[in-house]
Amino acid sequence: MSLLAIALTGGIGSGKTAVGQAFARHGVPVVDTDVLAREVVEPGQPALREIVEAFGGECLDAAGALDRVYLRRVVFADAGRRQCLEAILHPRILQALRRRLAAIETPYCLVVVPLLVETGLDQQFERILVVDVPEELQIERVMARDRVDAEQARRILDQQAGRVQRLAVADDVIENTGTLAELEDRVAVLHQQYLALAIGRRCAFQRD
Ligand code: ATP
Repeated sequence: MSLLAIALTGGIGSGKTAVGQAFARHGVPVVDTDVLAREVVEPGQPALREIVEAFGGECLDAAGALDRVYLRRVVFADAGRRQCLEAILHPRILQALRRRLAAIETPYCLVVVPLLVETGLDQQFERILVVDVPEELQIERVMARDRVDAEQARRILDQQAGRVQRLAVADDVIENTGTLAELEDRVAVLHQQYLALAIGRRCAFQRD
């Protein structure tokens, strides 16, 4: 497959959605793995059946849909159970992702993976774009967007990988400390680079 799939990651409130929207304005397809993760556990999907077998009927709500809040609480404090859930979900998400990517006809696309480092999915991508902001700004933006206090925002941040871990896997970094207009400019430059990279790659594939 010659499509170049670039993973886009960053901590909560770092600007992944804003970056994705900016690439989309250049016609770049943006696949969100959070959306795929929700689709694979919809009623009738095999993953939901497996989750019920592993975690019991308590993880379904009255309508037979996955009770995410309950499940999150169950796996939060238990690494073994979290791994069990991931072993069910990750192969299905990857399968759904591959299917989605196979239908894309542009030279490259973005795949938003918020917990790229935490899940080890960084191994699946040949190029990784990290959107990075200092924690204070992250907290400020999350507070403004989600109407939460600093303590709640900090608690979510503490559950995620830190900036150093994310930056360690980055091929490209967007420092999202400026205005949204500056973000657009940075994305426009990256878009040209990714197009050149993807087209160069295609030529190499054709020669092989
Ligand atoms: P999450 O991890 O929660 O999905 P995210 O990484 O997708 O968050 P965004 O929703 O894109 O982050 O950005 C967080 C908030 O910060 C939003 O309200 C967004 O409009 C705002 N924001 C993002 N970038 C900038 C910027 N450069 N200047 C001002 N505000 C920004």
